[in-house]
Amino acid sequence: MFLFPSYRHQSADSIICSKKAVLLDCDGVLYKLGNALEGAAEFVESIQKDKRVFFVTNSSDASPDHLVSALAKIGITATPDQVLSAPCITARVLKRRGITKVFLLASHNMVSQLRAEGIEAVVPDPDMPVDMLGRTHFPDPDVQAVIAGNTTVFNYSIIAQALQYLVRPGVAFIATNRDAVYPGPYAPLPDANSVVAALSGCCNGRQPELMGKPQPLVFDVLREEFGIDARDCVMIGDQLHTDIKLAKNGHAASLLVLTGVTPPSEWRSWVKASGIRPDAVVGGVSDLKYWRRTA
Ligand SMILES: [Mg+2]
Repeated sequence: MFLFPSYRHQSADSIICSKKAVLLDCDGVLYKLGNALEGAAEFVESIQKDKRVFFVTNSSDASPDHLVSALAKIGITATPDQVLSAPCITARVLKRRGITKVFLLASHNMVSQLRAEGIEAVVPDPDMPVDMLGRTHFPDPDVQAVIAGNTTVFNYSIIAQALQYLVRPGVAFIATNRDAVYPGPYAPLPDANSVVAALSGCCNGRQPELMGKPQPLVFDVLREEFGIDARDCVMIGDQLHTDIKLAKNGHAASLLVLTGVTPPSEWRSWVKASGIRPDAVVGGVSDLKYWRRTA
């Protein structure tokens, strides 16, 4: 176990002991490319006995049911209400703002999540001829926001359709997340930021409002729906700019694990370069399975 130099007085175990809720990133923390990381199931089982546990991921595909079944495959028992993915947070925030219809440029899994919150999603037609835009029924006058996330269905016509909404006064531009890449089976693949950048590029650089990590909206949901304050939470993640920054933005505690994107040999230089300082650094959740030893 490695402890960040400024926090030697406080071990990762004692941080977990002192908190009511544990927020877990998934990819790079519990599994990697669908394969369980060492100690993941044992650690989650042990903390579920005493702590509120939530799975906080930026994955655009992470509908609650989808993530629960992915976790079950690696021996982790979870329920859909423990999943606070970027699409889940987006749907809740939209509902709170009274938005009832959106143009959805993200994973189709989000259609059902939005519907569960009473929000209708208009999805793009990749084959719509662009020279007809503006002449037909398109765009839908009731659409209040364009939602950008990770999607594999994306082309010039779809960018053009989104543009018809983004140029209309009052239509919000929202991103589920802005991750650059995610790990594919054989190589890194483009994540939501490629979609966001394409839309920004045709809207004079207009930037979306971000819903997922590191934006601390998840803490609003935890407080309002579960009565949990951010200061009673510890976030465990493998990425400084999303997971650890989320904790910093929300004033929660943070543990960095080195089983994901942050290499064990470079975490010190990455922390120094980013200025994002986790409260503790551990090799992986396998180092945390005996967290009760300091209780
Ligand atoms: Mg991760």
